[in-house]
Amino acid sequence: MPADPAPTELLMIPGPTNVPASALAALGRPPIYHRGEEFARLLASCTEGLQRVFQTRNDVLILTASGTGAVEAAIVNSLSPGDRVVAVRSGKFGERLAEIAAIFGAEVTSVDVEAGKAVEPEQVRAALLRSGAKALLFIQNETSTGVCQDVAAIAAVAREQGALVVVDAVSGMGGIPVQTDGWGLDLVASGSQKAFMLPPGLGFVSVSEAGWEAAKRARMPRLYFDLPAARASLAKGQTPFTPNVNMLMALEAVLEVMFAEGMEAVYARHASLARACRAGMEALGLSLFADPRHASDIVTAVAAPPEIDIKALTKAVRSRHRIVITGGQGELQGKILRVAHVGMCTMEDLLRTIRAIAEELAALGHPCSAEAAALAAMGAG
Ligand code: PLP
Repeated sequence: MPADPAPTELLMIPGPTNVPASALAALGRPPIYHRGEEFARLLASCTEGLQRVFQTRNDVLILTASGTGAVEAAIVNSLSPGDRVVAVRSGKFGERLAEIAAIFGAEVTSVDVEAGKAVEPEQVRAALLRSGAKALLFIQNETSTGVCQDVAAIAAVAREQGALVVVDAVSGMGGIPVQTDGWGLDLVASGSQKAFMLPPGLGFVSVSEAGWEAAKRARMPRLYFDLPAARASLAKGQTPFTPNVNMLMALEAVLEVMFAEGMEAVYARHASLARACRAGMEALGLSLFADPRHASDIVTAVAAPPEIDIKALTKAVRSRHRIVITGGQGELQGKILRVAHVGMCTMEDLLRTIRAIAEELAALGHPCSAEAAALAAMGAG
């Protein structure tokens, strides 16, 4: 990892994350003309870099939108109103997938997953068989519960049933390996502000040949998120609408940072930080929330001890240590604590965070040892 000046606050949340200095510098440069040669070079370079991260030869389109825009684009370009789909409701983001599909008129069969668990491929197979769905929508890394699903196994079931595979990899892509081509993923959506270490504002979508075939038939309404239009523009080195040119400059910079570290090293660092975080949290006397077989490498969810007010804890950690961690969302509010270790994050950052949590837990009436937790984290990382 490059040495960067310490940001004013250390972001240990699952997006936005800390941004490397080279990307911050790119954001501060004068914008460039988006219909010129310089932009065409930049777009080609970013697209190629994203193809490396997505592990795909498919087209990858870059949208000026947050991750949800990329997810919506994947859905509306592959489906028509009335189409039957299966959506895996693995948490807040799985629910949103189902919601987007339903809003645009799909007939959604939901597979509900207990919070903290991953979906079993058998559940997916049964739902696909029962519904005769033409597409499967699911989350790679369910950020709301700290669970990473078995994308390869789930996609294999979908392919066996002839369903298009639509994956929300907004939080995990770039931090946890995704073999888009190797696993036969048709539409994969991601976003800029997590493992890609950028501010929010860019969405990425890869589309397979089967995805483009589906796009020809898809009748869900779309204008800004028309992927065939984006593909046609890309061939000319452009985007259909005015893109966030500075974010593309910053994307080129972060891709350089990622490739300089090496993607295998990036994945290994995330896995190591996750092991360390889990060990540290357990050493603080906290219970891990996610099924250990599916615990995420980019965000660790911890069950809140009954005596601790999670809001008070996150507030104290932020105000006294300048470290941002977060609680649960929706029905998990107050029930879990989430510590992310994604993007530009080092063991030092994590140890600082663990010590801060330990200190504030103790102040709130949960005695624990910061040093024991830091030692456990270092031992496991
Ligand atoms: N999907 C997942 C798995 C996410 O973690 C998030 C954001 O945290 C989103 C979708 C939504 O992305 P955005 O907030 O960038 O629209």
